[in-house]
Amino acid sequence: MVVTETPSGDTQLRPYVKDPVELNKDIVALVAQQMADALIEHAGRQPDGTIPSPPAPIPGTKLLENTMFPCSRCGRITARLVFAPECASEADMLSLGERLRNDVRYAPYPVWLIGAPDSEDDSVARHLTLQLAPVRGEVYREHPDKMNSRLMELDDKHHC
Ligand SMILES: [Zn+2]
Repeated sequence: MVVTETPSGDTQLRPYVKDPVELNKDIVALVAQQMADALIEHAGRQPDGTIPSPPAPIPGTKLLENTMFPCSRCGRITARLVFAPECASEADMLSLGERLRNDVRYAPYPVWLIGAPDSEDDSVARHLTLQLAPVRGEVYREHPDKMNSRLMELDDKHHC
């Protein structure tokens, strides 16, 4: 915030912004992230375990299925998976990953984008996989069992 003086001598507070559009987008993404996490973490501690409805999608974007994984001990989120079964190629994965970049940039836990499987047979199907946060990875193919054991390890090793 900066304090400025109006021509009439009043003092006013206004946000100090270098690039209003970029910075506001950042703030919105950060606040949205924290609110969504807080809602889910709170719901995780409710006796009935109800999960609040997800935040409204950004206009013009399709709402993607998201799964949050709360820690089994403290209830804080340890990981998030974003499912995009319509992403059937590495290019699709990268392009969607780019569009989600702003959405996940403040995620304090790992986020993966999960795309289409390479087989109809779930026992052998490997899904296109791309880590989005905290660092961007490369697109690769992975069976869900591997992701599941990684999620269990994140839970095990969570610093509560
Ligand atoms: Zn924990």
